[in-house]
Amino acid sequence: MALRLYNTLTRRKEDFVPIKDGEVGIYACGVTVYDTCHIGHARSAINFDVITRYLRYRGYRVNYVKNFTDVDDKIIARANREGVEFRKISERYIAEHDRDMGQLGVEPPDVTPRATEHIPGMIGLIDRLIGNGLAYAVPGGDVYFSVKNFRGYGKLSGRNLDEMMSGARIAPGEKKKDPLDFALWKASKEGEPWWDSPWGKGRPGWHIECSVMSTHFLGETFDIHGGGEDLIFPHHENEIAQSEGASGKPFAKYWLHNGFIKVNHEKMSKSLGNFITIRDILKIHHPEVVRFFVLQGHYRSPLDFSEEALNEARFAMNRLYEALKKIRDLVPAGTAPAVGEAPLPEKERELLARVRDLPERFREAMDDDFNTARALGYLFEVVRQVNALVTGGPEASPPALFVLGEAERVLRETGGVLGILTEDPNVYFEKDRIREAQKRGLQIDEIEALIGERLRARKEKDWKRADEIRDGLAAKGVVLKDSRTGTVWTVEKPVQG
Ligand SMILES: [Zn+2]
Repeated sequence: MALRLYNTLTRRKEDFVPIKDGEVGIYACGVTVYDTCHIGHARSAINFDVITRYLRYRGYRVNYVKNFTDVDDKIIARANREGVEFRKISERYIAEHDRDMGQLGVEPPDVTPRATEHIPGMIGLIDRLIGNGLAYAVPGGDVYFSVKNFRGYGKLSGRNLDEMMSGARIAPGEKKKDPLDFALWKASKEGEPWWDSPWGKGRPGWHIECSVMSTHFLGETFDIHGGGEDLIFPHHENEIAQSEGASGKPFAKYWLHNGFIKVNHEKMSKSLGNFITIRDILKIHHPEVVRFFVLQGHYRSPLDFSEEALNEARFAMNRLYEALKKIRDLVPAGTAPAVGEAPLPEKERELLARVRDLPERFREAMDDDFNTARALGYLFEVVRQVNALVTGGPEASPPALFVLGEAERVLRETGGVLGILTEDPNVYFEKDRIREAQKRGLQIDEIEALIGERLRARKEKDWKRADEIRDGLAAKGVVLKDSRTGTVWTVEKPVQG
């Protein structure tokens, strides 16, 4: 069975055939580091994280390259606003990016090159394009790519030149010959960073860096190029023109694009005030809840972010972890009896068949253009049967314990490819409880102190005060449960609003 993926270049699903048997080179466009990462960056990073994890799970040797754009108009503008060198800004936001992605459980790419480390390569590529008649320098030191001279421009985005021409204008002050031409090199203005070049002091245009860095690490032709669908035009179209224009060889074989993210049905933008940072989301949601939210949809589909959608993702993750907790309570890690395939009772046999089947069905779903939604559905089928098996009571037969141990193993294995179910269930629920309390404006030590006070009141037979404390907490959604071993608290009901 082949892995099939949707190729933006051919507009259809194709069998994935790597250039080199057993190896995959993948390049994804990274972040322009001038601000804190938002939920859109999280989506793209999680999607490509799962794609690379799955390729590895399937046995490929993967080389995953993701760049940082660390010199650009926005970075320079911010540096000037703050009165610091542009590198101060890029260093700051690269560090923040790495921390945010680490917390989301995104595995670091194999290589994370920065544009400013590849300036000589960019100058070399521009020089080659000039030599091929595909680029020209203008007085003042700018260099442009000549779109008309590259046959095949528009093949990725499906646009034709006439369409693109109507609407294209030359901005005042630009010396390009044709409105469609784009900058490869820009002469640096006063106060801007610059590098020496054959065309004078300047800095690269945006598109050239990805052509240079992808080729540097993966070769002139490589397997997969990815990014958000907003990059198809003009960025990826221009990358193809630059790379194929220089080498005369096909650039990336498969183009994968993740869909947009919206916030409450609206485009996310700073001006609309609905700009949601990863850091803010992680204050109130477990990273695996965010991953579930992203992966419950197909990577190519649009994704609508809302607090409600995240709460639903939390309930779903809790259900998965509840099953793991039930198993863990009955079968502490590594203690499942080795019953083997000996005749099992019917329920156990059914679950074992489902469990044994999960990796295969998971693979079928993921082989179908990384259908994570369907893959998650199969995990839930196993969870339903786990629940049915453990409703019997706190003690289970050795065959049941054996099958439950197997269920945990495959849930962890397949979940791990998606970057979920990586925690101990008790740790997960403790974190969940703390986050839920904080969402209600409750501090953990405050709750613990009130529980202590209630205990003293009960000892002193001050039932009125004890009830007052319990009711006060219940009004905020904190429910107390008394048992022989003490009082535990949980947070019920989702937050309203
Ligand atoms: Zn790029």
